[in-house]
Amino acid sequence: MNKYYEMLKQQNLKKTPKRVEILRIMKQSTSYFSPLEIWDLLKEKFQKVGLPTVYRILQQFQEIGIVSSIQKDNNQLYYFLCSIRQDHHHFICRKCHKVSCVQYCDFDNIKQLVEDQLGSKAETHFLQIEGLCKECRES
Ligand SMILES: [Zn+2]
Ligand SMILES: [Zn+2]
Ligand SMILES: [Zn+2]
Repeated sequence: MNKYYEMLKQQNLKKTPKRVEILRIMKQSTSYFSPLEIWDLLKEKFQKVGLPTVYRILQQFQEIGIVSSIQKDNNQLYYFLCSIRQDHHHFICRKCHKVSCVQYCDFDNIKQLVEDQLGSKAETHFLQIEGLCKECRES
């Protein structure tokens, strides 16, 4: 947890009880959470907390590089702890919903391909890898 507190401090974000509790909730799982799921768990401790607060904190966490998000078929964003700063991608197990970091990014090559094939300039990309994790393949 100290790693995350340190990152908050570096970005001048106070270690408020709600931020700490959201980090604690997310730390307990290798899977992803919808803002609603986090809200439900947060309400066990802070009865009056509103959903917009949860969205705001998750957004702050994402901006400072503590959490990352994935997008599911329903277009909803789900969040999980990831503090790797380099451009990389995520593998999501479709069975147990575990998220793993894949520390590789081929965007420079893709940019070049887009330039060569289309004469266009690529600015962003989105890649999300899904499948079965090692444990689920073996069970
Ligand atoms: Zn799995
Ligand atoms: Zn990651
Ligand atoms: Zn990439």
